[in-house]
Amino acid sequence: MDGQITLTDEQIQTLFDSGVEIRVNELRVIYKSAWEKLRANEQLAILDAYFNGPSMVRGGTKFRRHMIAYVESGNPQHLKDAIYELEYCSNPEKNDGLFKRRKVQAELLDSTKAPLYTKPGESPLPAFASITVIPGKTIISRGMHEHYGAHPDQRYYVWRTQMDPKVRKAHAALEGKVFSIEDPSSIGHPGNDYNCRCTAEPLPAIAQVIEEPLEVKHIRLTCIELGVMMADWHALQREMVLIGV
Ligand SMILES: [Zn+2]
Repeated sequence: MDGQITLTDEQIQTLFDSGVEIRVNELRVIYKSAWEKLRANEQLAILDAYFNGPSMVRGGTKFRRHMIAYVESGNPQHLKDAIYELEYCSNPEKNDGLFKRRKVQAELLDSTKAPLYTKPGESPLPAFASITVIPGKTIISRGMHEHYGAHPDQRYYVWRTQMDPKVRKAHAALEGKVFSIEDPSSIGHPGNDYNCRCTAEPLPAIAQVIEEPLEVKHIRLTCIELGVMMADWHALQREMVLIGV
């Protein structure tokens, strides 16, 4: 009526996604094979800088030269140089708002601050690494089985939800948790509950599953058994007293 178009959330999301996709494809052309070797945080920082000021990260820039050298050599000094370029050299007007934005992008780009820093393209976890997993408690990041392969013990799986607003709270609480086929969650296995769209993802091969210590279970059982036995014993004693043995 007034010349405005009302977009649905879905339409806005589609527009946003396609906008991001176009830029990512442009950056793939600019950074060539180096793009795929960058970490997610590095790609995101560049994507944000590209959206905000394309001239600073595109072909022929010092920033791009440093990033390519970083990927090719694995030397984190080149990343530091790129960070410096992004933070201090891209804002000659010393615009305060832009400076704050650049600082956030620089922070995001600085992978060397990650506790398990490795060279570009390498796995963030060393080959000998393992994750200790306690079923029902430990939360596993998405897609780790794609990186490390699936665990040979197929009794275990990772609970995955659809990660959208329709996921019930009780199901969302199980996202990423590990369960065994023999010991399901309180709402069963993925897909058991009414209209459940949750799925079971393979456990990554580097998982070391720690089941609840068997001794504890055994002691707990013994205590109950012992309680029953004691009660029986008292009853028996009473009977014996009554009988007058
Ligand atoms: Zn579900």
